[in-house]
Amino acid sequence: MTDPFEISSLEHDDKRYIWHPFTQMKDWLARKPIIIAEGFGSYLKDVEGNVYLDGVSSLWVTVHGHRRKEIDQAIIAQIGQISHSTMLGLSNVPAIRLARRLVQIAPAGLTRVFYSDSGSTAVEIALKMAFQYWQQCPDPRPRKNRFISFKNAAYHGDTIGSVSVGGIDLFHATYRPLLFPTFQVEAPYCYRCFKGLSHPRCEMACIEDLEATLGEHHEEVAGLIIEPLVQAAAGMLVAPPGYLSRVRDLCSKYDVLMIADEVAVGFGRTGRMFACEHEDVHPDLMTVAKGITGGYLPLAATLVTERIHNAFLGDVDEKKTFYHGHTYTGNPLACAAANANLDVFENDRTLETLQVKIDRLRASLQRFSDLEHVGDVRQCGFMVGIELVHDGASRTAYPTVENVGVKVILQAREMGLIIRPLGDVIVIMPPLSVSDEELDRIIDIVYESVQRVTG
Ligand SMILES: *Cc1c(COP(=O)(O)O)cnc(C)c1O
Repeated sequence: MTDPFEISSLEHDDKRYIWHPFTQMKDWLARKPIIIAEGFGSYLKDVEGNVYLDGVSSLWVTVHGHRRKEIDQAIIAQIGQISHSTMLGLSNVPAIRLARRLVQIAPAGLTRVFYSDSGSTAVEIALKMAFQYWQQCPDPRPRKNRFISFKNAAYHGDTIGSVSVGGIDLFHATYRPLLFPTFQVEAPYCYRCFKGLSHPRCEMACIEDLEATLGEHHEEVAGLIIEPLVQAAAGMLVAPPGYLSRVRDLCSKYDVLMIADEVAVGFGRTGRMFACEHEDVHPDLMTVAKGITGGYLPLAATLVTERIHNAFLGDVDEKKTFYHGHTYTGNPLACAAANANLDVFENDRTLETLQVKIDRLRASLQRFSDLEHVGDVRQCGFMVGIELVHDGASRTAYPTVENVGVKVILQAREMGLIIRPLGDVIVIMPPLSVSDEELDRIIDIVYESVQRVTG
């Protein structure tokens, strides 16, 4: 525990000097901040000594828990070697080892790893590669220079390119004049189906919008970007089974590169190492970040096929080089953490033990349907979204001013659980290492918080 004088000066300085992400600073300044000092396993501890369960894996990144011995030690060992060395013109040991392992575990066909440092940069890289590919592939088709993305659902990061392929108006509308145009298609959202149909009787009619857009515009389309299985930031929208593989088939049929953004769903979140595995989908490009280092350090990668990589080979004066690179690309400490993260997956058999926990989570979510204001409960593996509605029968949303999602998470905090809402969707994303007891406690607190706030 930090001494009281120091706590009040930390609070003061936070409010005086920091601008927090995705945060209305007016609200922030009016509230007492929680300042985290330590973490262990599934828990966070603040400077006052209060302990909380980490129900959102420190924004979807923590995999095997905080202060996981093996990862701590791998980073310390790497510090004893070197902490940073550039990948521009040089290589380094942990980055090489990691690239080889990523290719081994990724969907077959992805054979080359391009490093960066956040999900957003991994997406920028995928977009630029897909665009450039058509300019310089063996039979160039420079007219294929646009992208298909998902309306009202896609989230691929906050840089201008990734915002261009985003579709969440609240986050993205302001920047519209800065963005490049895309072909936007409807995403599946069964609870609020844009066709007014219900699954499975609909026979996935929602895919027709994509099919029509591809049919009409494929000559102009370089690639399509999709979050496999779960449109996460849009509110944990789980696609109907078979949707992803239909998207893959359509991309192949129309010769459009498929970019799978596994930044949120990768590294075990859905119950498999990568979400594409559930439907045996092989994307042309795949982006990973969040869970890659087990939640320790910023690192990302864009994986591509040999066909894409080879289109960038040529003599220097042919100017086929991919002129892109971030200063901390392939950082050795981050790569060492990522290698240790993968070691723990193997040694703990994380994905095997996870299956039972996923079932336990599914069973414990059943009782939420008793609550009047719970409209929809969506789960894919260890990703959960509970959509709260003002009126269950008509599926009417709460008025925005009610801020019901924030009220629920503040209530949960009082009871010792840190979670974060997406609008009126309560997100539950515990570390994969969570124990049965911790998982039950998380669900109990969420249930009670929803009941108290909406009851
Ligand atoms: C979080 C996220 C990103 C952006 O990652 P950052 O590391 O925050 O830049 C991109 N795509 C998806 C699907 C994400 O969930």
